[in-house]
Amino acid sequence: MIADSHTALYGVFGDPVSHSLSPVMHNSGFSHIGYNGVYLAFRVKDIAAGVSSIKALDIRGVSVTIPHKVAVMEFLDELDDMAKQIGAVNTVINRDGILSGYNSDCLGAISALAEKTDIRGKKTGIIGAGGAARAIGFGIRSERGNVAIVNRSADKGEKLAADIGAEFCPLSDIEKLGCEILINTTPLGMTPNIETTPIPIRYLEKGMVVMDIVYNPLKTRLLKEAEAAGCTTIDGVAMFVYQGAFQFELWTGEKAPVEVMREAVMRET
Ligand code: NAP
Repeated sequence: MIADSHTALYGVFGDPVSHSLSPVMHNSGFSHIGYNGVYLAFRVKDIAAGVSSIKALDIRGVSVTIPHKVAVMEFLDELDDMAKQIGAVNTVINRDGILSGYNSDCLGAISALAEKTDIRGKKTGIIGAGGAARAIGFGIRSERGNVAIVNRSADKGEKLAADIGAEFCPLSDIEKLGCEILINTTPLGMTPNIETTPIPIRYLEKGMVVMDIVYNPLKTRLLKEAEAAGCTTIDGVAMFVYQGAFQFELWTGEKAPVEVMREAVMRET
């Protein structure tokens, strides 16, 4: 597709952003459905100025990533209820100059989990208490899952647990939890620290569902050990692609070609 004067512009705002797989994922999707759009990576230092540029340049939609997911909220015209509850926005749509914020990390994680397991009534341990843990925790609670926040720092872990109606468990006590689903939302295992892992292999039991939202590498040490222990595993690309599919559908009004988007991401990982 050749960009012309009708091409709709989209992008990701972050800093750093040169490693982002969002451009390859969304551009593959646009091209597959014949949508006249282009998606670029913008290194944005000043998020207030970045948001002004959405209106000034008639950018139709943006993904928002580290470090702007919280700060962006005050510059938008309206917020979806879930984004408000989570306290973070990673998706903006521009409808005739009105900017609305959403959180697709939450929906992406729930879709990735729902492919492999029921969530309702299951005991889920979320390791980490940062932005991703908050989005996933709210999502699982809204699906009536039973959540425990497992975190290194007790103050952050207890705060998130209280905010979402979950219990808190120190990382050192994880084996006492008896989780049916375990989700790593810390950067442990991510390149270049691929030998690190959030929990020792002895706590992984056959039949558990283990999801790692780190996707670089695709098969983290946690997922390799979970596989060896007989667990069902879910990699970080699943959540990434589903959160992107939600953005795609919000922006274009068309069904996202999820498999095409996944293949585009996999080629780069
Ligand atoms: P964040 O807000 O910085 O939170 C990181 C959490 O990890 C904190 O709770 C922190 O614990 C914990 N942590 C960090 N280093 C640790 C260590 N050495 N040992 C134990 N705990 C440690 O980050 P985030 O925005 O939630 O993102 C987390 C990860 O998810 C990143 O790797 C990001 O790339 C990935 N991610 C993936 C997707 C996807 O679609 N697959 C989407 C969003 C994010 P303390 O509270 O003790 O500091």
